[in-house]
Amino acid sequence: MSQRINVTKAFLPPIAEFNERVAQIWENDQLTNQGPLVLELERELKKYLGVENFHFVSNGTTALQLALRALDITDGEIITTPFSYVATTSSILWEHCEPVYVDIDPDTLCIDSAQIEATITPRTKAIMPVHVFGNPCDVEKIDAIAKKHNLKVIYDAAHAFGATHKGKSLYEYGDIAIGSFHATKLFHTIEGGCMIAKDKAVSEKIELLKRFGHNGDEHIMLGINAKASEFQAAMGLCNLKYIDAIIAEREQITAWYDEMLPRTLRTPNKQPQTTSNYAYYPVICTNNAQLMKVMNALQAQDIFPRRYFYPSLNLLPYLQSRQRCPHSEKVAESIMCLPLYSGLDKATVVRICKIIQKEIA
Ligand SMILES: *Cc1c(COP(=O)(O)O)cnc(C)c1O
Repeated sequence: MSQRINVTKAFLPPIAEFNERVAQIWENDQLTNQGPLVLELERELKKYLGVENFHFVSNGTTALQLALRALDITDGEIITTPFSYVATTSSILWEHCEPVYVDIDPDTLCIDSAQIEATITPRTKAIMPVHVFGNPCDVEKIDAIAKKHNLKVIYDAAHAFGATHKGKSLYEYGDIAIGSFHATKLFHTIEGGCMIAKDKAVSEKIELLKRFGHNGDEHIMLGINAKASEFQAAMGLCNLKYIDAIIAEREQITAWYDEMLPRTLRTPNKQPQTTSNYAYYPVICTNNAQLMKVMNALQAQDIFPRRYFYPSLNLLPYLQSRQRCPHSEKVAESIMCLPLYSGLDKATVVRICKIIQKEIA
């Protein structure tokens, strides 16, 4: 039997390079609390991404929750997208706010900016869209709506590492953007995430919030522990050296899929003036029956794509009210992400494409 192929596989740097970094931790004799490796990774990432007001934190979900806190949002309605990972909605609920769903644009799979204004009420505090699969939202329009109605914008940019729009990192859009450096993501620190603030003052607040809200003995505000450790930074520093090569390799794999997959399988449209990070290869089948047929055929050959995202978040069983989002519900029923990771060889991509061709001929 052939080797199991999963939707993703975490990149692991040469172990000797990681060991060198670990030896530094022993020398420094500091394991956490903004140690030298965390500070070095923050400096390197700011340079690589071209961003300021950047914070390396424990994970992307805490980053979303802290983003609401940093903008003083403790209740009210947050306009968000139903087509995302559960963390986008759960962070809103966890912070005692109410998610209000705006359906997606079926072409880009990002929130449909044309439908946002109609859902704004006196209780609306913020908009929390997602750059789905690293594809930018309609950032200009969303920014204009937010300004007009005095709302904050928090981008869940968990997929957007290295992706740009109009020459700027996607992390630079919104009052706060958050990233995820989880092991399954394009750039990883095992567990980890980041926050990027537009304003210096908000950035300073995040710095306090993420380490218990105090400076020495001076307790300034309620905080939490969202620090990352030196070991996570060590992994990040090793991986960052390879990230351009990883993205180039994924671009090549993406081109093979583009060339060999049946034309009837749709992939989300890319926005203009955007550079992709090739983080995912989503394909949309004509319906759920076709999706299940293709997935079963692949799984029979030990190939495991992932239904991503499923279910549409407006259908989560623990929500207070039921809101309908027909486009998101339909896409969630018929989309999967195909295997895409550094090290995936052409023979395997050919094999995957042949199985899919056979099923939807
Ligand atoms: C992965 C992910 C998150 C959560 O990030 P973690 O670092 O795993 O907490 C949030 N939103 C989206 C869209 C994600 O894909």
